[in-house]
Amino acid sequence: PMAHINQNFQKLPGGYLFPEIGRRVRAFSAQNPPMPLIRLGIGDVTQPLAPAVVEAMVKASREMGVKETFRGYCEETCCAYDFLRFAIRDSYRERGVEIADDEIFVSDGAKTDCGSIGDIFSSDNVVAVCDPVYPVYVDTSAMAGRAGDFDGEKWTNLVYLPCTAENGFFPSLPAGDRVPDLIYICSPNNPTGAAATKEQLQVWVDYANAHGSVILFDSAYEAFITQPDVPHSIFEVEGARTCAIEFRSFSKSAGFTGTRCAYTVIPKALEREGVSLHALWNRRQGSKFNGVPYVVQRAAEAALSPEGRAQNQSAISYYLNNARVIREGLSAAGLTVYGGVNAPYLWVKTPGGMPSWDFFDLLLKRACVVTTPGAGFGPSGEGYIRITAFGDAAATEEAVRRIVSVLD
Ligand code: PLP
Repeated sequence: PMAHINQNFQKLPGGYLFPEIGRRVRAFSAQNPPMPLIRLGIGDVTQPLAPAVVEAMVKASREMGVKETFRGYCEETCCAYDFLRFAIRDSYRERGVEIADDEIFVSDGAKTDCGSIGDIFSSDNVVAVCDPVYPVYVDTSAMAGRAGDFDGEKWTNLVYLPCTAENGFFPSLPAGDRVPDLIYICSPNNPTGAAATKEQLQVWVDYANAHGSVILFDSAYEAFITQPDVPHSIFEVEGARTCAIEFRSFSKSAGFTGTRCAYTVIPKALEREGVSLHALWNRRQGSKFNGVPYVVQRAAEAALSPEGRAQNQSAISYYLNNARVIREGLSAAGLTVYGGVNAPYLWVKTPGGMPSWDFFDLLLKRACVVTTPGAGFGPSGEGYIRITAFGDAAATEEAVRRIVSVLD
């Protein structure tokens, strides 16, 4: 007798992107680089939590130490306290989107939910992902046996939707005759920094409604949208309530990457095979999840308060200013730069068609700047690098000067 492992894990190419970057950076650091490294690779925030958020956490922590206000398991709807579900519902309402508070599931992360949502779908569903893509959608599809085998470049059973300069980094409807059942769309996009228009999203919502597909819409970077006509939610698009699930997070909007709070919206009108997906997810959460700490839910509530929002807005503006500095500096030096207007990511074309790992190495070794090679996000990412705007402002300016100086 022997326990059998999930063989799908054996097919994963070993998290090649960030470990490989780490390996190259460590090898270079060991040779005493001429300048301190500036890291604009991984997409973590650097600004501290807003004062209003910290104050709420301190107050909630004190409540936990008093018998009368102590909280144990959260017994309320969708593992979330009313105060947070109502605050989230109201934030949607401000953009004219009516979501019922009990359509909102609070969790510890958009990564958690994007990766777990597959639990409620059949393992033979066909999954479509954008190319390049946030790797979580691909890896978790593979773990669930939906991706087939990795052939060194692509997974045999995934439908890849190329996002290139030619289509404005937004996918066209699938060309072949395979109709995807589950369609991951991320806007504003990681890694390309592109944000979809309402018209672009409408095409996919209509397609999903016509074919019975479900759109898994990740709007983790919604807070970075600056252009007024760009939708913040898939539910701003006509017909989305019958075909879409939305994932949101406090990670990038309020600096919660280490605090952990997010939410997923599943409309009650969303059904497949006559079954409510909301009911299935509720059932799944009931068996696999016991909620987000009270202290953190109070912190998230404070992040949505007028004071918290004003404070978070200044961090977002800080990052968007970094994005502008990178975009303008690199464009002036002759590089082609996308993104950075509605997103904290810049998607930069390598000069002279250089492979993305070569450009990554050149910037690491000559400018001592760490970026992310586009090829790591999928075949269509070849020929690009991703630069994040989440760094320190002075370091970002210095990084741009260094990159420009090695281009010549
Ligand atoms: N979705 C996208 C597109 C992301 O880039 C990230 C984080 O990098 C996440 C989700 C993860 O969010 P969370 O911190 O809420 O798990």
